[in-house]
Amino acid sequence: MSDDTLRVARDHVVRFHYELFDEAGVLLESSREGEPVAVLHGQGDVIPGVERALEGRAAGERFQVTVSPEEGYGARREDWTQRVSKKHLAGAPRRLRPGMQVAVDTDQGMRPVTVLKVGSSVVDVDLNHPMAGMQLRFEMEIVDLRAATPEELAHRHVHGAGGHAH
Ligand code: ZN
Repeated sequence: MSDDTLRVARDHVVRFHYELFDEAGVLLESSREGEPVAVLHGQGDVIPGVERALEGRAAGERFQVTVSPEEGYGARREDWTQRVSKKHLAGAPRRLRPGMQVAVDTDQGMRPVTVLKVGSSVVDVDLNHPMAGMQLRFEMEIVDLRAATPEELAHRHVHGAGGHAH
């Protein structure tokens, strides 16, 4: 392999497949049924542990990375709950049940939460990210990478396959 192999660095567009497992080895998420995920590297599009693991990799590389909560979705905070109006739940099923994961529309964008208790017009939710406090294992495969275009850098997101279409 020559020294001019393109390697993942800041301001590169990286496309990868991933499978995400919990500590018990249960598959939680996979990109395999769809298109690879496309990210603009160095923008915090992925959790810090994964971003760090991508650094310096080349297209075609497969690797595993174990991510602690500190480099993942953070520690789980006890009693971090809030009562929200049902109208602020986005795309939630009509019949809500405790334990369901839904998204709340907040000033900072969509936030995944877990339903604790359901009232007639309000819902008590756990604001911890569903994967907070978890040690996560990713199996990664870098599909391809390229330098970002000036337009992508200006917009701070990926255009084309796996990114924004505009
Ligand atoms: Zn754009």
